[in-house]
Amino acid sequence: KRRNPGEPEFHQAVAEVLESLEPVIDKHPEYREARLLDRIVEPERQIIFRVPWEDDLGNIHVNRGFRVQFNSAIGPHKGGLRFHPSVNLGIIKFLGFEQIFKNSLTGLPIGGGKGGSDFDPKGKSDREVMRFCQSFMSELALHIGPDVDVPAGDIGVGGREIGFLYGHYKRLKNATEAGVLTGKGIPFGGSLARTEATGYGTVYFLSEMLADKGFELKGKSVAISGSGNVSLYACKKCQEYGAKVVAMSDSNGYIYDKNGIDLDLMIRLKEIERKRIKEYKNFHPEAEFGENCRDIWSLKCDVALPCATQNELNGKEAEALIENGVIAVAEGANMPSTAEAAKLFQERKVLFGPAKAVNAGGVATSALEMCQNSMRYSWTFEEVDQRLHKIMVNIYTMTKNAAKEFGMEGNLIAGANIAGFQKVAAAMMSQGIY
Ligand code: NDP
Repeated sequence: KRRNPGEPEFHQAVAEVLESLEPVIDKHPEYREARLLDRIVEPERQIIFRVPWEDDLGNIHVNRGFRVQFNSAIGPHKGGLRFHPSVNLGIIKFLGFEQIFKNSLTGLPIGGGKGGSDFDPKGKSDREVMRFCQSFMSELALHIGPDVDVPAGDIGVGGREIGFLYGHYKRLKNATEAGVLTGKGIPFGGSLARTEATGYGTVYFLSEMLADKGFELKGKSVAISGSGNVSLYACKKCQEYGAKVVAMSDSNGYIYDKNGIDLDLMIRLKEIERKRIKEYKNFHPEAEFGENCRDIWSLKCDVALPCATQNELNGKEAEALIENGVIAVAEGANMPSTAEAAKLFQERKVLFGPAKAVNAGGVATSALEMCQNSMRYSWTFEEVDQRLHKIMVNIYTMTKNAAKEFGMEGNLIAGANIAGFQKVAAAMMSQGIY
C-alpha cells in the first residue's frame, strides 16, 4: 500500500490473489527465493499520456490515457480498454493484474494488460468519439502491436470505438496488421461470436457449475446487473437455456419484468439506440422501474449475474440475495463482489463463480480472433462458439481441480487464482529474473 498509494481496487485484487496462493508458495520455496510474487505484482510497464480532442462546438478537452502492460511471460499483453469517467491508474492496474491469471486460464498464449481513459463516451456524438479515439490511438500506437500488446473493448469501448481506433492505427502504420486489436467489425477481421462471447461464456460456466451440483439452469429466475455487452448476451444465453431473466439495470436504475425481459427490445434500446433502461417501461408498462440500480440485488431470484462493474455487490446486498434464496452467483463483470460479499456467498454455500474464470470467454474469443487474423482466415459462428464452449468447460474443470489439489475443495476463487498462476509462474521461472 505504501508503494501504490490511492489504488484501493488494485490492493483488493492483489490481496485476494495472494491469499489464495499461500499453499502454492509453501509447496514451491524456489518461488519465494526468486521473489516471484514481488515481481508479479509490479507491472512490466505502465504508460500514462495526454489525450486532447475537440468537440463539435470547437471546445478543446483534455483526458488522460493509460496502458498498463502487466505481464508478458506467456504471450503478448492482452486486455481491454475502458472509457469511463471513473478510470484512474489504480482501476487499470487492478484490471490488468486480474487479466494475467484470466488469460492464463484460457489455455491460450496471451499475457496480461489493460488500458483506457477517463473519457466519457455517454452523450457524445459519433464524430466526437471518433476524434477522441484518433487522439488516443496517436499515442497508443507507439506501444502496441500484434506480437507486443493487443487491446480490445471493455466498459464504454465497443464495436464503434474499436473501429475508429483500428482505422487510425492503420493510417499511422501504413499497414493493416489486423491482429493489433480484437473486437473488430466482421468485414475487417473481427471474429464471429466475439460480441456474444463474454456473456455466452459466463452462462456456459454457470451451467457447468450448476450441473456439477445436480441443478439445471432451465426454469430458474435470473437477475443480471448492467445492460451492456456482457449483460445482454448473458441474458440471451440464459433464455436459450430456458431460464427466465427477470431483471436488468444500468447506472440509472433497474427494470423488473416478471414476464421475463424482452431481449430484442433491450438490445434495441441499449446497444443500437444507446438509450437509458428506463425507456423499457414505455413498451412494457407492467414492468417495474427502480431508480437505484443496486436495488436489483433485493429482488428474489435463483441466480444472480453481476455483469456491470467492480464492487457493485456488497456484503449487505449479498445478505439480501441469500435471504431471498439465491443458489448461484457468477461474476460476468470484473470484481463485482466486494471481498465481504464473496466471503458470505462461500460461507453460506451459495455456488460462486469468480470473474477471472467466469468471464474469461471474452478474452479467449479475442485470442481466437488473433488466431484467425494470423491465418488470414475466418471460422463460422458455430466453430467459434464450439471452441468457446469447450474452453469454458475446461476452465471450470481446471478451477475446480486446482482448489481440490490444494485442500480447498469447492472454493473456486482460490481454484481460479491457483490454476491461472501456475502456468505464469512456471514461465517466469524459466525466463530468468526480469
Ligand atoms: P458496457 O459498457 O457494454 O456495459 C456496462 C454496463 O454496466 C452498462 O449497462 C453500464 O450502465 C453499467 N455500468 C457501468 N459502470 C457502472 C457503474 N459505475 N455503476 C452502475 N452501472 C454501471 O461494458 P461491458 O459489458 O463490456 O463490461 C461490463 C463488465 O464486464 C466490466 O466489469 C468489464 O470489465 C467486464 N468484462 C467485459 C468483457 C467484454 O468482453 N466486454 C470481458 C470480460 C469482462 P450505463 O450505461 O448507465 O453506464
